[in-house]
Amino acid sequence: MGNLSEKRLFLLDMDGTIYLDHTLFPGTLPFLEAVRARGGRYLFLTNNSSKSVDAYIEKLGGMGVAAVREDFLTSVDALIADLAARPPFRLCYAFGTDSFQSQLRAAGVPVTNRLEDGVDCLLIGFDTELTFQKLEDACILLNRGVEFIATNPDCVCPTWYGSVPDCGSVCEMLYRATGRRPRVIGKPQPAMARLALERTGFPRSAALMVGDRLYTDVACGANAGIDTAFVLSGEGTREDLAGGGGVTPTWVFDDISALHRAWAGRHGPV
Ligand SMILES: [Mg+2]
Repeated sequence: MGNLSEKRLFLLDMDGTIYLDHTLFPGTLPFLEAVRARGGRYLFLTNNSSKSVDAYIEKLGGMGVAAVREDFLTSVDALIADLAARPPFRLCYAFGTDSFQSQLRAAGVPVTNRLEDGVDCLLIGFDTELTFQKLEDACILLNRGVEFIATNPDCVCPTWYGSVPDCGSVCEMLYRATGRRPRVIGKPQPAMARLALERTGFPRSAALMVGDRLYTDVACGANAGIDTAFVLSGEGTREDLAGGGGVTPTWVFDDISALHRAWAGRHGPV
């Protein structure tokens, strides 16, 4: 177990960790300010590949958290880094939102949203603009044997009215139809945590992954070999620890305020 008070890089899940839906937790701003004040850094990590970072900057801004592009790391960022580290594909079919496609294009990934002969890879994200045409195109491509990569494995995305099918559910549909499963990039895979270390230059020992889900947030940190804090302010409960699926967090806190108190313990009052 690492030393909590020595943590300087905080990889923060958002929903359920720093806010719930549209309400910021009271402990979030004091924690973020304390991290900065001590020369630390935080990154907001999200598996959501349907929205651009601009949408998150606006959302956080609306809750009083000033943030810039560099404060975020998304599963699309990790996908782009993954693609850059491999021999390039000729043409990728981008199965996702317009925002997903334009992020890939801006990063120099050759993408199309039409069924074309040269396509040798299917990139799938959380698609809130899903059509049957895209499902059909995907099946044709998968049956042709193209590479298949997904931004995130989440089956559902929480909304104000309940859950909607996320990328993992659509991948499950495609699996039923074609027998093909994607290689997955986002949490719980370690790629996002590794990219965070790479981009910030902090050593592994200084990093802490903080999240409200054992099977995505905590597992991502554990898979990347960094310490983790499981917060009980969102989806996860203490009962999950017994189930766990083999995932054990380094620390458990009621919420971000409790994490702040424990972290700052050696530095005086919060
Ligand atoms: Mg969460």
